Amino acid sequence: MSVTPLGPGAEFDIIRRILKDAAPPGPEIALASGDDCALVRAGDSYLALTVDLTVQDAHFLLDWGSAELVGGRAVRAALSDLAAMAAQPVGVLVALNLPAGSGSELAEQVAEGCRAAAEAYGAPLIGGDLSRGGSGLALDVAALGTVDEPLLRSGVRPGDELWVTGRLGAAAAAVQAWKAGRALPDEWRQRFWAPEPRIREARWLAERGASAGIDLSDGLAADAGHLSAASGVGIELDWEAVPAPAGVEPALALAGGEDYELLVALPGGILTAELVSEFERTFGIPLTRVGRAVTGIGVRVFRDGEEVALDASGHDHFKAG
Ligand SMILES: [Mg+2]
Repeated sequence: MSVTPLGPGAEFDIIRRILKDAAPPGPEIALASGDDCALVRAGDSYLALTVDLTVQDAHFLLDWGSAELVGGRAVRAALSDLAAMAAQPVGVLVALNLPAGSGSELAEQVAEGCRAAAEAYGAPLIGGDLSRGGSGLALDVAALGTVDEPLLRSGVRPGDELWVTGRLGAAAAAVQAWKAGRALPDEWRQRFWAPEPRIREARWLAERGASAGIDLSDGLAADAGHLSAASGVGIELDWEAVPAPAGVEPALALAGGEDYELLVALPGGILTAELVSEFERTFGIPLTRVGRAVTGIGVRVFRDGEEVALDASGHDHFKAG
């Protein structure tokens, strides 16, 4: 059994304190806290388990989209943690709390969004819980998957190349626009409400030799920090290389979270131009080299060869100020 070290940040300091005195899990647990999923031994394979909490006013406002979208987004975010391990979804469970005074219609709308998103990724809704009270909507989605050879955060080695799927920053740009009361493109809205768990992409990358992976929920720089801490390597990111959709600032692509794309490491030279174009043809999204692993620890960002200062803490619910 092993535990994976988390990257820096106040939210993770709290988690470290909570887990410090936890009893050690038994031998059936192959991987406990610190990665995108816990892994339970199941014959020659593993069961991957993750749980993801979505809270009204912390993660979304109902002014931004429908209850059905809230349900879909919560399930997609949970399934993304399975993708981060290259696991195949098996099922999801949803615990839902409705605000006091709300009716069954709201529960049905959220559940419909959950069900549709889960089934779109081959993961039926297999259980859950429902309660009512307090002032906001909250849902907690547990996702279960299976995997033979999991992609771990701890597998990065100096010399590896770091690659990202898709484009980054649109989800954070949507949140900025909503908060400022600005109009926004449908693409940004879609990226916030319906991120795509990269299940098939992760398996493709794992089959071609990816040695480590994480999904981008806290932001590229912060999630690279988790890979760095878990693997005991330094990570260098190239500002110019980070793929952002039109109109999205590169800084937001580096620091903005919730795109649910993948950041993976592969030994240098594996992903040839031919393989990259095969990936892009197969999945219809870019695959971009954004940096490299080096000896050392922590994340550094370079722009035109010069190191730039960056708030690498990403999204942190417990950050002061
Ligand atoms: Mg994750």
